[in-house]
Amino acid sequence: MEMLKCPLCDFQSKMLNSLKKHMRTQHLWDDTCPICNRQFKSLNSHLWNKAKRGCREHMVIYALTANGRNNKANEVKKASRDYAEVVLEVG
Ligand SMILES: [Zn+2]
Ligand SMILES: [Zn+2]
Repeated sequence: MEMLKCPLCDFQSKMLNSLKKHMRTQHLWDDTCPICNRQFKSLNSHLWNKAKRGCREHMVIYALTANGRNNKANEVKKASRDYAEVVLEVG
């Protein structure tokens, strides 16, 4: 079984959803961007703004933090899929 790895620590999981939960609870709970090390009013918008300008690190984090509250479902799905492909290529 392939494992998905947290891009920020050694945490691994088979389930994309538990990796997403891990990101939210361990790395993003105070809206601080783990790439920029700065706190944002809306971390989600910050991640998306960077991601759509082509920053892969932000895209990965965005894909792993996105939830059903926004309306970017297709972009999120694509980004999650890209992330999974990246992980599978590497691992
Ligand atoms: Zn982690
Ligand atoms: Zn950032």
